[in-house]
Amino acid sequence: MKRFVTINSNQVYKSLETKELLTKKLISEGFDVKDYFHPDTELVVSIGGDGSFLKTVHDFNFPNVPVVGINTGHLGFFADISPDNIDTFIDAYNNNDYIIQGISLIEAEIFSHECCENIYAINEVVIRGDKSRVIHLDLKVNDKHIQDFGGDGLIISTPTGSTAYNYSARGSIVDPSLNLMQLTPLHPINTNAYRCFTSSIIFSSESIINIAPEYRFENSILVVVDGVEHRFSDVSDIKIFVSDIKVNLLRMSNYEFWSRVTEKFL
Ligand code: NAP
Ligand code: MN
Repeated sequence: MKRFVTINSNQVYKSLETKELLTKKLISEGFDVKDYFHPDTELVVSIGGDGSFLKTVHDFNFPNVPVVGINTGHLGFFADISPDNIDTFIDAYNNNDYIIQGISLIEAEIFSHECCENIYAINEVVIRGDKSRVIHLDLKVNDKHIQDFGGDGLIISTPTGSTAYNYSARGSIVDPSLNLMQLTPLHPINTNAYRCFTSSIIFSSESIINIAPEYRFENSILVVVDGVEHRFSDVSDIKIFVSDIKVNLLRMSNYEFWSRVTEKFL
């Protein structure tokens, strides 16, 4: 039986060079290597930075098989294996000496007059105003009204996304073994006219968040999913929850989250 590996790379020279080298090595180990998602693929390799990792997983529509990231000169929180360690990686893969980190996605169901669209995020969903306007959002959790938010927007992040935009917006870094959603405000207004939370709120993985835009200036909003912007008109409600779909991130067996945090952030 043929064993298929799919390699997806960004267009940076170092990535293309790494892709060529990895392809050669995998072929000599008996694998068949494709650069599109072959239906029998057993492993997806993304070469680039975290942005490439996110793009690979989205482009391949959240595959069930393990995805591994090889880092060619970026921060590399997902893409964690150095091109210098390709041989170690192939050996470890052949010997089943690795760990699989299941990443729970956040799912958002967007309701407008054209009915609904479901989107999935690995890091986060951001809801922002269009044209740099203040956005007013009615926030509910499990059908209970929490607040009328006014400000730049709200980030709803996964534990894995907690080290990304969420962290820049003063959200907390979350241990990836926890299953939760973190809602972090972006520049909330706090005056006599508007009052909203200034810190992040942590919701359980069973919670259902509903966000309804109150249109004051524009009838369109931006929904930014893992850094990719989508513009929606006349959205009546956005339902956000932890999805049943997971991404299986392959890590080397010596991977440890907190040492990566100190290496990459401090
Ligand atoms: P980008 O503009 O290159 O990303 C910004 C930085 O975030 C990059 O250094 C990227 O790593 C890093 N990153 C991505 N996911 C991460 C994670 N889970 N933990 C820690 N760092 C992470 O755009 P991109 O590479 O396409 O990434 C999209 C992400 O950028 C979004 O999901 C969002 O979280 C983040 N973002 C952050 C800000 C902010 O901090 N103010 C604003 C917009 C978007 P690489 O260098 O390896 O690509
Ligand atoms: Mn990037």
